Amino acid sequence: MEPLPFSVPHLFFDRIQKDHAHGGEDLWFIFRGTELLLDGDSMKPFQVKDPLLIRSFYMGTYDKKHIHVGEMALSAKEPTGALWAGLKMLYSKMDEDLYAIAGRAVQLLVWERTHQFCGQCGNRMVDSEKERAKQCPVCQLLEYPKIAPVMMALIERGDEILLARGYHFQKGVYSILAGFVDPGETLEQCVKREIMEEVGLEVEGLKYFGSQSWPFPNSLLIVFTCEWKSGEIEIDPIEIEDARWFKKDSLPPIPPKLSIAHHVIQTVLRGG
Ligand SMILES: [Zn+2]
Repeated sequence: MEPLPFSVPHLFFDRIQKDHAHGGEDLWFIFRGTELLLDGDSMKPFQVKDPLLIRSFYMGTYDKKHIHVGEMALSAKEPTGALWAGLKMLYSKMDEDLYAIAGRAVQLLVWERTHQFCGQCGNRMVDSEKERAKQCPVCQLLEYPKIAPVMMALIERGDEILLARGYHFQKGVYSILAGFVDPGETLEQCVKREIMEEVGLEVEGLKYFGSQSWPFPNSLLIVFTCEWKSGEIEIDPIEIEDARWFKKDSLPPIPPKLSIAHHVIQTVLRGG
């Protein structure tokens, strides 16, 4: 499988403090909400001279550049020649490495924004000096960037696969099943539970396919393939709008190449 979008490049090194000793230029990723500020011509992060930021942090180095992340107010207007855009819109329009770094940047930014105060005693959190974490100076609660594991499963039955659509999907699009992993659950248990809950089927032969960071807002997608064992489709109408068996040679529209769901469907169609 080709590298998926949001795979942070091997040239990226996570750091919490800038190492001034090694020179290198600064490269800022500036967001408004979850939208990135870009140069409209080059589609590279737009560099603002003296930006008015409501928060900022250092993220590490990439290709001898110091990567900084900043956030402007929601009311901030784009400078001349720049535009604000969400990351889904920017797929395949940006340099792949910069796109992946933006995917990490927005996740860390949202975490910074939503972890300013201690969830245990309410005091203001401070940055750890040792690692990417926030600590409460009063009760010592330590918080790390949050990642939510989501399992996804493609179910095969002979020459058919099961695809479903959620209520928020684009018109006509069907995808593989997905659900958040519960506390205390293995990935394998999660796959079986989600499939039983959402479509009432029993499966077997789970095989790990791959994973993808998914910054909308902070998921890690973990994909399995499996085979139908027993049961007829019985959808959970709260989660699923429709689910069906589709012949492999006659599928409905599927998610775009941005998502690992697209790649697992294509791989199974090719017989791999
Ligand atoms: Zn506290």
